[in-house]
Amino acid sequence: MSYQRVLLKLSGEALMGDLGYGIDPAVVGTIAQEIKDVLQAGVQLAIVVGGGNIFRGVKASAAGMDRATADYIGMIATVMNAMTLQDALEQMGIPTRVLTAIAMQEVAEPYIRRRAIRHLEKGRVVIFGAGSGNPFFTTDTTAALRAAEIDAEVVFKATKVDGVYDSDPKTNPKARRFTTLTYSHVLAEDLKVMDSTAIALCKDNNIPIMIFDLGVSGNIVRAIKGEAVGTLVGE
Ligand code: UDP
Repeated sequence: MSYQRVLLKLSGEALMGDLGYGIDPAVVGTIAQEIKDVLQAGVQLAIVVGGGNIFRGVKASAAGMDRATADYIGMIATVMNAMTLQDALEQMGIPTRVLTAIAMQEVAEPYIRRRAIRHLEKGRVVIFGAGSGNPFFTTDTTAALRAAEIDAEVVFKATKVDGVYDSDPKTNPKARRFTTLTYSHVLAEDLKVMDSTAIALCKDNNIPIMIFDLGVSGNIVRAIKGEAVGTLVGE
């Protein structure tokens, strides 16, 4: 395996499948099966889960809600996703801990960095809920932050496309997919990989980002083996 400790970013939309809102149990079950394969390969896995399938702060604030309030609701939405994923993993016999950046001690452990690392060392999947705990941030930035904190070797950004293109492959049949990209190129061209705060944080800490299609079965394990399943962003 190319990587021993991986931070996987799952957007809320990844859990939604083809539904317009919420969580598709079949999709979550498939993701859980893939995660099981990762663990069986002896890799330590931490997950940051988004909340866009339930609530997005920016959207609610555009409709008139106070932005910070909307963002806190967004963060709470990620905890619902985190608990759903935990349930699916534990049904497959995978020990999992949800750690939240906003304390909710009745349902999850508070985020404590050293505890997260300890869980990983013991072979538990760690799911980080409630984003970074701060409004005006995203779960992509949280993924970069937690990856740096727990010393993950790579951030996996699992999406619905098989990498980063120079133009939209849905509208331009000649769109070209990048195999590798530099952080500077992503920032300069404003390529839609992750938001710029997340990219800058990965750049500063030299954490590569692999963007790949979660819909292709076996892709997470392939990415962990170092196969070129998508676009790799690095120095
Ligand atoms: N959010 C936040 N701070 C964070 C992470 C998330 O305020 O550190 C809020 C924000 O409102 C965001 C929502 O939580 O819109 C859901 O997260 P995100 O949009 O990143 O989820 P994804 O797009 O990955 O599903």
